[in-house]
Amino acid sequence: MRPVRARLMTLALCLTAGSLKAHADAGTTTPGAKLTGGYMAMIDRAVESALPEWRSFYKVCHENPELSSQEKESAARLAGIFRDAGITVTEKVGGHGVVGVLRNGQGPTVLIRGDMDALPIVEETGLPYASRKTVTLPDGHTVGVMHACGHDMHQTVLAATAQTLGALKDQWKGTVLFIAQPAEEIGTGARLMIEDGLFEKFPKPDYCIALHVNHELMTGTVGYTPGSVWANVDSVDITVYGKGGHGAYPHASIDPVVTAAHIITSLQTIVSRRINPLQEAVVTVGAVHAGTKHNIIPDTARLQITVRTFTDDVRKEVLDSIKRIAVHTARAMGCPKDPDVVVLDKEFTPACFNDPELTAHGVKVFSEILGEDKVLLRPPSMGGEDFGRFGKHLGVPSFMFVLGVVDEARYKASLEPGGPALPTVHSPMFQTDPEPTIRTGVRCMTALAMSLLNGAHR
Ligand SMILES: [Zn+2]
Ligand SMILES: [Zn+2]
Repeated sequence: MRPVRARLMTLALCLTAGSLKAHADAGTTTPGAKLTGGYMAMIDRAVESALPEWRSFYKVCHENPELSSQEKESAARLAGIFRDAGITVTEKVGGHGVVGVLRNGQGPTVLIRGDMDALPIVEETGLPYASRKTVTLPDGHTVGVMHACGHDMHQTVLAATAQTLGALKDQWKGTVLFIAQPAEEIGTGARLMIEDGLFEKFPKPDYCIALHVNHELMTGTVGYTPGSVWANVDSVDITVYGKGGHGAYPHASIDPVVTAAHIITSLQTIVSRRINPLQEAVVTVGAVHAGTKHNIIPDTARLQITVRTFTDDVRKEVLDSIKRIAVHTARAMGCPKDPDVVVLDKEFTPACFNDPELTAHGVKVFSEILGEDKVLLRPPSMGGEDFGRFGKHLGVPSFMFVLGVVDEARYKASLEPGGPALPTVHSPMFQTDPEPTIRTGVRCMTALAMSLLNGAHR
């Protein structure tokens, strides 16, 4: 018995491509010329038979979260499932990234991405399968670890979609590239996989698709946003240089704290005065560090800033404005040298753009299988998500949809006047209703992939 098989059996995962195929073969063809063709009933039969195993898998993922760049066990779990589904697997692509290639004759290539990393949060959900895991960071601090962004659900849907597509190969033609991505939360995972030769060593996709859980949507529903959906994320460090001295003799010093305060205030004018009011941007100073004691004027002050934009032009205008304001404010205050203004290129996450045509196609597919009232138009977010990097790098269309996770009772209670607010992602209380969420996620992802592979798009 191979180690992978042994591990899967201990996870109570007895599902194999063979057993799923047997279930699928029992399905019937849906009449009518829908986008999802005759295979939807087969997908549904396969999903219902495998759902208990996927629920177990989800709980194993939830109980065993791993921080960004440490996704060793998560990657091994997914690699094992891919192999059992007849998929060719390459591990350690850009860190703990896993690439699965499922070739099935001539046809389009579709990239399906799921991310794996968790967050340094102590879980407070009280769920029986809540994470009790802790990790000691390099600085000696011990922190709790939690799947508070739903990447355990993303792993589960990715694994289940791989099994379903592997079992239903007689229903589609082409190639599927399964990407189990590390380090999404720190914005480096997609970039490191691309830099490690993702698109040189493996087939180039014609389409990139992915999903993210959504804490505001009821389970059984999905959401979509045509065009810009997630923002460009930039991190900027500013170091202001003054001249230190005694707090009682400010005239003998140049105070970097006051200079930094002026810079912080002036930065607020970028969005309000420099950017077209019809375009989106955020400039937030999230950290200010200066000084040691009441009566000492320090030599330096440091600021850490997050910048969110959607377009290249607005991004450039905001970053140029930050530099201009910092430099000229410091000069006006008589600082001995210009401040360092450093845009941290390695932390940049490009905006995620949902190709409008591909999005419209996805909406048609989802509406067919869920009903139009379960497919909801959503506004874009100033949050970041590095999935957009794959399609942007190649210039091919991308589509990330969102998956509702909130059980019906909690969702309805939250709508009552004064009802309890739903915990957001990244909250210690974040949770999903696993079974219906997995069902909706796998049905949508598998049907969307199959429709693209079968050329139903365009
Ligand atoms: Zn997150
Ligand atoms: Zn996330």
